Amino acid sequence: GSVAHVHARVAPLTSRLVVVLAEDRTQAHRVEAIRRDFVANVSHELKTPIGALNLLAEAVAEAKDDPEAVVRFSGRMQTESERLTRLVQQIIDLSRLQNDTASEEAGVVKVDELVAEACEHSATEAERKHIEVATSVQPELLVHGDRAQLHAAVSNLVENAVTYSPESSRVAVTASLEGDDVHITVADHGIGIPGEDLDRIFERFYRVDPARARSTGGTGLGLSIVKHVAASSGGSVEVWSEPGEGSTFTLVLPSWTHDLDEETS
Ligand code: ADP
Repeated sequence: GSVAHVHARVAPLTSRLVVVLAEDRTQAHRVEAIRRDFVANVSHELKTPIGALNLLAEAVAEAKDDPEAVVRFSGRMQTESERLTRLVQQIIDLSRLQNDTASEEAGVVKVDELVAEACEHSATEAERKHIEVATSVQPELLVHGDRAQLHAAVSNLVENAVTYSPESSRVAVTASLEGDDVHITVADHGIGIPGEDLDRIFERFYRVDPARARSTGGTGLGLSIVKHVAASSGGSVEVWSEPGEGSTFTLVLPSWTHDLDEETS
């Protein structure tokens, strides 16, 4: 029963539930303003790790007679370059999604594989923090969409759950059929998200606590990718959260049925 358990926790607290409709009702001029903001934000976000790498490279050069310092600085260089890599990858993912170029890659995707791959993506970090990632997936669920995009979406949710959870806690990932939709739920017992931030966390580069996000390597892009993937697959994303209690994210995707498959082929 982790499915029932998760839903039992969600149900009594519907006042805290924010439904993010995966629809873009923005007018053309607003889209243009958002694009300009995005470019400005990207430049700013890229400058931070690049600046840090420059300083660290200088520090390594100066510390060449102190092997311990060299090891320490190169370790931090590695962290910054990993952060930079992740940021660039997410920017590429997001711009692909916005341009809708990947839609011809769409196909039928098995939900159990999607969940297994997403958990695998965070397995090393979960192990390091002694976090148990428990899955409960209804068999034979299918959704339709771009495989890589769907993978990125579920992986981002699991990665966040692990990142924002304390050591030795539990993350539950479930997938079930609810009516005509597949619900993929990622529930954690982590730090939670204050109510006033809940409807903003899906914005690009929005972070509840930027200082903390920096130390966790967060980019603020993960959830905007999730939102875009949900939208381009005809679904939506929901979040319930309570500070100090934890968070539950639900990715709702239209179920792909065998009947429909036969009709269209
Ligand atoms: P980031 O790369 O910073 O995690 P996201 O777009 O994935 O960016 O998330 C935006 C912000 O939402 C995060 O910085 C964090 O403050 C908050 N957040 C996301 N997921 C969780 C979670 N499971 N628990 C607590 N806070 C979360």
